[in-house]
Amino acid sequence: MNYNSTRNSSVVVSAAQAIAQGISKEGGLFVPGQLPHYTYEDLRALKELDYVGRAQRILSDFLTDFTPEEIQESVEKAYAPEKFGGDNPAPLTLLQNNDKNMYLMELWHGPTCAFKDMALQLLPHLLTKSLQKTYAGKTAVILVATSGDTGKAALEGFKDVEGTKILVFYPEDGVSPMQKRQMNTQEGNNVSVCAIEGNFDDAQTGVKRIFTDPETAKLLEKHNMLFSSANSINWGRLLPQIVYYFSAYCDLMNTGEMDYEGEEINIVVPTGNFGNILAAYYAKEMGLPVHKLICASNSNNVLTDFIRTGTYDKNRNFYTTISPSMDILVSSNLERLLYHLTGRDDKKVSQWMKQLAETGKYTVDDDVKAKIQELFYSGYCDDQGTEQTIKMLYDTENYLCDTHTAVAVHVYDQYIAETDDKQTPTVIASTASPYKFAASVLEALTGEKSQRDEFSMVEELSAVSSTAIPQPIAQLKEKTQRFQQVCGISDMRKVVLEMLHIQ
Ligand SMILES: *Cc1c(COP(=O)(O)O)cnc(C)c1O
Repeated sequence: MNYNSTRNSSVVVSAAQAIAQGISKEGGLFVPGQLPHYTYEDLRALKELDYVGRAQRILSDFLTDFTPEEIQESVEKAYAPEKFGGDNPAPLTLLQNNDKNMYLMELWHGPTCAFKDMALQLLPHLLTKSLQKTYAGKTAVILVATSGDTGKAALEGFKDVEGTKILVFYPEDGVSPMQKRQMNTQEGNNVSVCAIEGNFDDAQTGVKRIFTDPETAKLLEKHNMLFSSANSINWGRLLPQIVYYFSAYCDLMNTGEMDYEGEEINIVVPTGNFGNILAAYYAKEMGLPVHKLICASNSNNVLTDFIRTGTYDKNRNFYTTISPSMDILVSSNLERLLYHLTGRDDKKVSQWMKQLAETGKYTVDDDVKAKIQELFYSGYCDDQGTEQTIKMLYDTENYLCDTHTAVAVHVYDQYIAETDDKQTPTVIASTASPYKFAASVLEALTGEKSQRDEFSMVEELSAVSSTAIPQPIAQLKEKTQRFQQVCGISDMRKVVLEMLHIQ
C-alpha cells in the first residue's frame, strides 16, 4: 500500500517513508492510497483473535512494506500484558443503570494512564523499523513540545528503544504538578526532559525552529543522527488507533451483544486534534458497521460549529478548561477527512488550509458539508456540564470517569435527547484515568475545591470513591526526580546539542 499527500496527490510514498518522514514536504499529511475492506466474514475471523492478533491483522493491510515478523514483534512489545494490565489493553465496561445501551472503552490502562499510550507504545517500534528501511544505521532524535499528556506518553514509548533518543520540552508553569512529576521522574537511558521559561506555543515554536535549522541538521548528519517526529499527525500514531474500534466491535460480538449480522454501533469520541475520531472514521470506511460518529468537544467548540455549519473558524476565545487535552483550536487531522470527502481533491484541501493559515477560517462546499453531517453528530459541553456528568455517572452507575470522558458522555446524552436513538449499542472512548485529573474529578464529586497537594488529592479521591489508584500514579510518589533543568527559549538548541553530546 502506498500513501499520498493531502496537498499533492502525486506524492507517492511507502508506509515506512510516511512514518519516517512524518509530514509531506509541502506541508500535507500522508493518507493511504486506498483502504482495505473488511466483510462480516472478516470480522468473524477477527473476533477469534486476541488484541495483539487483531492488531497484527489490521496493521499488515497498511504496512505492506513490513514483514509479518516485524509487525508481530512491534505489536507484541507495544501491548505486552505487563504494560497494559492484562491481555486486553482496551476493555469495555457496560453501564447498566440507564435505559441506553452504552459501553465505555477504557483506553487508559497503559503506562501513563491516558489513551495516547495506545499509539505511543507502538509508534517507536514502527518508527525504528521505518528508519531502518529508509535511513539505515542512523539514530533518530525525537524532539517533543508538550502541554502535558503527549510528553510523558512519548517518553514512556521511546524509553530504551534502540536507535532513538528523545528530548521533551514543556512550559515550566504550563503543566499540572502531577504531569511535571511524571516527566521529571522519567526513567531510561535515552531520555531527557527540560522545562522552558515560556508557554506551550514558545516550546512548540522553539522545537520547530531547531527541527528546520539547516546548521543543526548538518551537525546531526555528521554524527549519523537525524530528527524525527512523534506528533499526532504521523500516520504511525493514527494507525494503532483504528485497531481498538475493530477490537471493541469484536468484543461485543463475542459477548453476544450483537443481535444480527451487520448490526451497527455508535462511537463517541472526546476530540481535540481530531486524531482519535478520525481513526473511527477510517474503521467505518473499512467496513466496520457504524451508525454515527459522535464528535464531543469542550468549550473550545470549533469542531461542533464546523460540523453543524460547514465553516471552520478559529477566530474565537480560547478557553482553559478542566479537560485540557481538548483545549485546541486547530484540529490538524481534520485535513485528512476533508481530503477523503472531497474525493481526494488536493487543490481544494490546499486552498482551505491556506485560508485557515491566512484568515483563520474556511468554508467547505455544500456536498462536503452534507457528507460530514451524514457521518457525524457533534456537540459540546462546558466545565459545569463536565463536573455534573462525573457526579451523575458516579451516583447512578458507580463509575468514576475523568473529565475528558465526561465530555463525551454528556454529548452522547445530547445525541439521545435530539435523536431518541437509544437502541444502537454505543461505544464511548474513555481517554484518561480519573486519577490523572484528580483535582477536578474530586471537586466534581465533593463540590469543594481542595487546597491539598496532588498526592493527597489522589489518596482522597481513592478514599471517597472506593477505587484503586493506578500503579503508575501510585509509584510516582517514590520515584526520584531525574530532571530539573529549566532553560530560556533561546537556549533550547544548546540543550539539544548537550543532550546529544555534540557541538
Ligand atoms: C489527546 C487527548 C484527547 C484528544 O484526542 P485527539 O486525538 O487529539 O482528538 C482526549 N482525551 C485525552 C485524555 C487526551 O490525552
